[in-house]
Amino acid sequence: MNTVQRSAFALTENASLRDRNTLRVDARAAWLADVHDATAIPDLLDQTALRDTPMLLLGEGSNVLFTGDFGGAVVTMRTRGVEVLDDGDDAARIRVAAGEHWDGLVRWTLAHGHAGLENLILIPGSVGAAPMQNIGAYGVEVGEFIESVEAYDLQQRRHTTFQNSDCEFGYRDSIFKRHPDCWLITAVTLRLPHEWSPRIEYSGVQDELRRMGIERPAPIHVADAVMALRTRKLPDPAVIGNAGSFFKNPLVPAAQAAALRAEHPQLPCWPAPNDTSKLSAAWLIEASGFKGLREGDAGISNRHALVLVNHGHATGPQLWALAQRVRDGVRERFGVELEPEPRVITA
Ligand SMILES: Cc1cc2nc3c(=O)[nH]c(=O)nc-3n(C[C@H](O)[C@H](O)[C@H](O)COP(=O)(O)OP(=O)(O)OC[C@H]3O[C@@H](n4cnc5c(N)ncnc54)[C@H](O)[C@@H]3O)c2cc1C
Repeated sequence: MNTVQRSAFALTENASLRDRNTLRVDARAAWLADVHDATAIPDLLDQTALRDTPMLLLGEGSNVLFTGDFGGAVVTMRTRGVEVLDDGDDAARIRVAAGEHWDGLVRWTLAHGHAGLENLILIPGSVGAAPMQNIGAYGVEVGEFIESVEAYDLQQRRHTTFQNSDCEFGYRDSIFKRHPDCWLITAVTLRLPHEWSPRIEYSGVQDELRRMGIERPAPIHVADAVMALRTRKLPDPAVIGNAGSFFKNPLVPAAQAAALRAEHPQLPCWPAPNDTSKLSAAWLIEASGFKGLREGDAGISNRHALVLVNHGHATGPQLWALAQRVRDGVRERFGVELEPEPRVITA
């Protein structure tokens, strides 16, 4: 194994990615680069190993499925640092390095009296990946709190900054998600307003707070309620390999949703922009009979129908084949197309 070690980055040849993805797929990368200092990115890209080679940007691997080895260079930001830029009358502005853990950041903000991110507690992954799919949970999306995103433009070979409006945030979507591997995100600046009211419109959170006997929740109570819900519903990747929700909730024309609801009144459905409706992918998968299904070591969680799990030694192609079987089954039964939420890496 060939290794290039500098204080600013480490470059390893023929590296295992098994501990770098939460589905625990045993893929390998021709080269693996860990970046400890964002200013060293140009120097890293000048290394012979990275010249003219395909590049894959990877965080903590909690939203990817490798269907094979990656023949190019996998690049991971390992930078750390949380800095309060200012804490004025209206809001705190906090700049966070891409390599910080998202959940650690949420806990840090709460411990330092900055509210806003509590609904997003316990989401795995790095801060650098959070803008990618505009991570969201329990009625809140990170894009609401992002002021700007710093990135290295891999084509233009220069550092650049995206303001919130440049990021084109949508439901599990952003400009970064639509153009993967174009920009290596190096830092995110959050704006957390001091004015706060609990975001508990999501009924599960309200029920949980009631169970906890909390009538007037503080941010930490909302965080506790979300943690209790997530721990109950979602399998822990440290215990069983998974990438969280494997499919997005599908958006369909409102008329199609109304027709489906007429036939299946229990199908959860929410209004969405542009005369569309968002359907519950979990309900569609469970109603198609896939919850708890297992083919070898590839399976659909019996706790949550949206979660594809690796019971031990499932390969990337086996997990992908099962996901496609679920997608085909839902299409045949309901005429609805499911789209994977994680990035499926095919080369
Ligand atoms: C148990 C579980 C629960 C989850 N719950 C939620 C949830 O509630 N809501 C939600 O939105 N997501 C959820 N996820 C998905 C996942 O946690 C998020 O998408 C997270 O942001 C991924 O972070 P990561 O560092 O692991 O990114 P990775 O999986 O490594 O990468 C994801 C994508 O981001 C890109 N990327 C990573 N880092 C960078 C960078 N620095 N610059 C540019 N591109 C980069 C990758 O190329 C890839 O396209 C869950 C996952 C698990 C396993």
